[in-house]
Amino acid sequence: MPKKYVYYFGVGKAEGKADMKSLLGGKGANLAEMTNIKLPVPPGFTITTEVCNYYYANKKKYPKELNKQVETALKQVEKDMGCNFGDYKDPLLLSVRSGARASMPGMMDTVLNLGLNDKAVEGLILKTGNDRFVYDSYRRFVQMYGDVVMDLKPKDKNQIDPFEEIIEHKKKNRNITDDIDFTSEDLKELVFEFKAAIKKETGKNFPDDPMEQIWGAIGAVFRSWMNDRAIVYRKLNNIPVEWGTAVNIQAMVFGNLGDTSGTGVAFTRNPSNGENEFYGEYLMNAQGEDVVAGIRTPLPISELKKAKPKIYKQLDQVRKNLEHHYKDMLDVEFTIQEEKLYMLQCRVGKRTGYASVKIAVDMVKEKLINEKEAVRRVEPEQLNQLLRPIFSTKEKEEAVRDGRLLAKGLNAGPGAACGKVYFNSYDSVNAKARGEKVILVRIETSPEDIRGMNAAEGILTSRGGMTSHAALVARQMGKVCVAGCGTLDIDYLLKTVQVKGKPHLIKEGDFISIDGSTGEVIVGKLQAKPSEILQVLIDKTLKPKDSKPYSYYSIFMKWVDKFRRLKIRTNADQPDQCENAVAFGAEGIGLCRTEHMFFGGDRIDAVREMILAYKEEGRRKALDKILPYQRKDFVGIFKVMAGLPVTIRTLDPPLHEFLPHTEIEIRKLAKMIGTTVDEISYKLHSLQEFNPMLGHRGCRLAISFPEITEMQTRAIFEAAVIVQKEGIKVEPEIMIPLISGEKEFIEQEKIIRRVAAEVMKEKKMKIKYKVGTMIEIPRAALVAGKIAEHAEFFSFGTNDLTQMTFGLSRDDSGSFLPNYIDKEIIERDPFESIDKEGVGMLMEFAVRKGREVKKDLKIGICGEHGGEPDSVEFCNELGLDYVSCSPFRVPVARLAAARAQLKKN
Ligand code: ADP
Ligand code: MG
Ligand code: MG
Repeated sequence: MPKKYVYYFGVGKAEGKADMKSLLGGKGANLAEMTNIKLPVPPGFTITTEVCNYYYANKKKYPKELNKQVETALKQVEKDMGCNFGDYKDPLLLSVRSGARASMPGMMDTVLNLGLNDKAVEGLILKTGNDRFVYDSYRRFVQMYGDVVMDLKPKDKNQIDPFEEIIEHKKKNRNITDDIDFTSEDLKELVFEFKAAIKKETGKNFPDDPMEQIWGAIGAVFRSWMNDRAIVYRKLNNIPVEWGTAVNIQAMVFGNLGDTSGTGVAFTRNPSNGENEFYGEYLMNAQGEDVVAGIRTPLPISELKKAKPKIYKQLDQVRKNLEHHYKDMLDVEFTIQEEKLYMLQCRVGKRTGYASVKIAVDMVKEKLINEKEAVRRVEPEQLNQLLRPIFSTKEKEEAVRDGRLLAKGLNAGPGAACGKVYFNSYDSVNAKARGEKVILVRIETSPEDIRGMNAAEGILTSRGGMTSHAALVARQMGKVCVAGCGTLDIDYLLKTVQVKGKPHLIKEGDFISIDGSTGEVIVGKLQAKPSEILQVLIDKTLKPKDSKPYSYYSIFMKWVDKFRRLKIRTNADQPDQCENAVAFGAEGIGLCRTEHMFFGGDRIDAVREMILAYKEEGRRKALDKILPYQRKDFVGIFKVMAGLPVTIRTLDPPLHEFLPHTEIEIRKLAKMIGTTVDEISYKLHSLQEFNPMLGHRGCRLAISFPEITEMQTRAIFEAAVIVQKEGIKVEPEIMIPLISGEKEFIEQEKIIRRVAAEVMKEKKMKIKYKVGTMIEIPRAALVAGKIAEHAEFFSFGTNDLTQMTFGLSRDDSGSFLPNYIDKEIIERDPFESIDKEGVGMLMEFAVRKGREVKKDLKIGICGEHGGEPDSVEFCNELGLDYVSCSPFRVPVARLAAARAQLKKN
């Protein structure tokens, strides 16, 4: 049997279903599913993603079976619709739509009303008696086809769309502002002018033959998989290129047939705050993308309930059926043709972090899903959004009183953002690269703006609704967004924005503040304050029972903790950081960097004195000065951690990081320790290294100067005694950095155990402790078995391990690594997400070898990767005991760990 490349859906029965997304794409699979559950879906068929891959693997040719299969499916659509494609009297019109496995809103292209030509237009006018409708459809078709298939597009960022230019010109001539006021004669002229423009700019004639049109559109959809914005989008969202897109070909239904027709988009619940209410927008007498494109401002669905109750009832029933069937919040696209509803798309709806948590918790209460499923529903990064800042009400009120409230738009992406105004993607990206905070201001956004949106703190648009491109993408990226702020007068050329009747003229580079939770736009800077969850957990300025977001968060996190196996620790080296981390749910410290403690106040002087000392005696003298500081820091940390394990790393960084660099500093230091500037300069020179990252650092320092480890151990144990005397349990785990084999460990361990015993004897108190090591040099991973004979725990320092496995300096890689990612030589920045194939292999080996020697060897990770969801999942697979990450990532890591474990079961 020939391979099946085409899947049919229509009249209550489909060949595909919802779980066939990889083959049919999300859109195709869900069109099939909706057909199967008897929702009103216009018939059509899906060409599989395999064809896309074939197309690219075979010099843009199709498999030979395809032609026949498309023909057969097309015949079936004709049968179901009772009219024929290419017929002049009663033509079947089609939409050709892309649809990848993961939704890529507006990234790829759609052509509507395909099948029209000058002759078919006549027939359709006779049939419908509505020439305005027919010419409206025709001009849309020529416009979309000209853009998508024949490639007549703006050439740079300042140029307007050539078709829009023609439309604007005609509006001016006709003295109208709204598309809806065009007469059929105007529209007919537009078709003519569009075709002429296409011919002039591309040299090609617009195709009249419907079959030529259809294959042109299919090819364009496949090509759109490789257009710039699709590539950027895939990168940002880690969508592999191999997935490919499907093509959906579907009978048209018409929302532009007059006042009883229309089109809309909706969410089955509020995607911003998760409320269980029907939420969306519609436009009467409109087609396709009018709602999303923001050309006309749509009406809220609640209006439809009043204006067209009959239609609303059909829609509300569909909403119920869909949620019941999919057991999730969905995002739907629909069209009403003369009071009859048709469903054109559904997919699981994008939502803000808070909405995500709220909907998951609510759906458990409604018994639609269980707790495990609820945990699976929330992406770890979405939790992060719940922790994002908001503006202080007081400051905002003051700003409003001062007349700084510029405008109010839709609260499309919650959170507070303040930054400098830029008007296009290019300038935003550059400003971000200069270290500025950016608010991207656009009339409306399109997929072209993805890079700029990604660079911005917040996005502000003057057009488009809650489901506009800007709103959709912002919510997905977790960006602050105010959309559809209609009073804004944005001028791209002058790079200004102003509001009629307001004195402010905002220029590029000026500060504004936007509140994505209320829709307010405020001139100038505004201080943001912590989210309610932080106010409850960290600042303790809000009571748990007074915060709805907190109550949802806490119910949800209880479930999360039920399902995870990995412990979550934190990287922190100050008592306040530790306190935050514990409030976020940290179960210990995985990495306490002692060198940070060397910088506070005038401690650095003593440190410098130690480094510059020629003899042990001098060093000891200086170290004695540092000891009390370290002890005090450890006391603070042990108290906060109250019996939770605290992993303390002995001194790690290259010494030069501590050295004075400026003339003034050197002179000051010389005076302080009673030596000459020359002496110091000489010593500095002798300490200089060509490659400090591979130089005298980590345990190598302590091997040269064992008295450093002695001092640190003494500080730790004296602190432990002090705290334990107060009745607080203490569990220090001392960790030796940067060993490459067991000998370094043995040597350091001896010192630690000796000093520990001394202190315990002096103070007559026993402290339970462990001595372990970091595994961060590839060689250490390779000889992990030998190291495990001595070490009581391992902790993977994946920053250094990545750096040394790749032979890639993390400080210097910024100049070429992005290029590697662009060229897909490596898939993801290995400093962001663990390189499983290479670095991961070393980890796996070290875990195996280590546990062969010590079955219960405790193993964790303390690199930056510890808070990155994919890396957390990998650590869970490796069977590590814990991951350690920065305090604010702890909730994310908890969720990632739970999801990883659920995935395994
Ligand atoms: P996107 O992936 O950008 O959402 P779609 O393929 O969903 O693109 O098409 C965009 C819009 O075109 C849809 O929202 C829908 O309103 C309209 N459309 C697509 N197919 C049809 C159809 N068969 N009949 C009427 N309108 C359609
Ligand atoms: Mg769509
Ligand atoms: Mg390191």
